[in-house]
Amino acid sequence: MSNTPPRDPARFGPATRLVHAGRDPSAQHGFVNTPIYRGSTVLFPTYDDLQHRRGRYDYGTSGSPTMDSLTQAWSELAGARGTVLTPSGLAALTVALMSVVSAGDHLLVTDSAYRPTRIFCDGVLKRFGVEVTYYDPLVGAGIGELMRENTKAVLVEAPGSQSFEMQDVPAIAEVAHARGAAVIMDNTWATPLFFPPHERGVDIAVEAGTKYLSGGSDLLLGLTSANERYWPALHRTFEHFAMCAGPEDAFLALRGLRTMNLRLREHERQGLAMARWLQNRPEVLRVLHPALPEDPGHAIWKRDFSGSSGLFGVVLKPAPAKAVAAMLDGLELFGMGFSWGGFESLVIPFDCRTYRTATRWEPGGPGLRFHIGLEEVSDLQADLDAGFARLRAAL
Ligand SMILES: *Cc1c(COP(=O)(O)O)cnc(C)c1O
Repeated sequence: MSNTPPRDPARFGPATRLVHAGRDPSAQHGFVNTPIYRGSTVLFPTYDDLQHRRGRYDYGTSGSPTMDSLTQAWSELAGARGTVLTPSGLAALTVALMSVVSAGDHLLVTDSAYRPTRIFCDGVLKRFGVEVTYYDPLVGAGIGELMRENTKAVLVEAPGSQSFEMQDVPAIAEVAHARGAAVIMDNTWATPLFFPPHERGVDIAVEAGTKYLSGGSDLLLGLTSANERYWPALHRTFEHFAMCAGPEDAFLALRGLRTMNLRLREHERQGLAMARWLQNRPEVLRVLHPALPEDPGHAIWKRDFSGSSGLFGVVLKPAPAKAVAAMLDGLELFGMGFSWGGFESLVIPFDCRTYRTATRWEPGGPGLRFHIGLEEVSDLQADLDAGFARLRAAL
């Protein structure tokens, strides 16, 4: 076997690409991985080279071999023209938005968007003269009726944060493109392994690398990828903000990338086992998981996605907050905290009623969001079984 990258990686399946993408051992003295390049200053050999900024790198904010390993691998996986790395998933979203909207423009955002995305739109974007309209995530091709002359972009997220509605991304993209608007997607849940964003009509795709790319709850990172048309604008905005990620985080994300396929499939398997078990619990009204045949978004999920992750929601039968607290407070294995995508199981209560504006969220009971980690399913079930007993005792 040679120490150079395989030729024509496009002929390989995604699992093979995840192992080889963005690596060139021959450029690293034969070592398998690209090392961590730390640095600000990049030296130029001559006056003339400096004047023309000649060379692959010119300053620490605009890239390094460590960064390039990850962005090249990600572009290959996502089917993108290029990718930029940002210090968090939220930063990846803000760079994506700032690349396409300007003062006087109109932006359509799904009502099911990740809440900090809304806060950015209602705060910074509004302050800079961008008008934002929230829309029903189930709108599909009906998005056309909400589009105006100055609509520059439509932001989609599937499934929705917390509420897990599926969106018909290809239908929305077709209408948006006919009107000259960009489609920006938060694709964190599926990753490009389960939803190839640019093949489905997305122009700029965002991934919180903090989640499954890390897989270890040990880093913060964002990745924004763009197709040919939007890459120049994305790259320019990224360079102007100099919103670059740290080299250690990029290195750790590369390490996570190599095993992401394996981990995601296990999160999917474990998540489905837990979701089906929860469906049969008498305390549960509904499980919000698009890979379950009973889910209203299942048909779209089946058509467009090739897998599901370990993150889903549950609506409990009506119960007072003190009963939900009794359930959650005594859990031994499930942690309570934000973020997800690591090896450990998590649960948080959620209530979309507090921030939705375009649609009503009346699920019929308290909401819990689960992230199913890599523990034994039987142990997780026993932990929740004891939690449900505490919930019933507190009703
Ligand atoms: C966590 C998350 C983000 C933001 O990622 P951070 O790295 O925490 O900023 C964006 N979108 C979704 C759907 C997320 O779950």
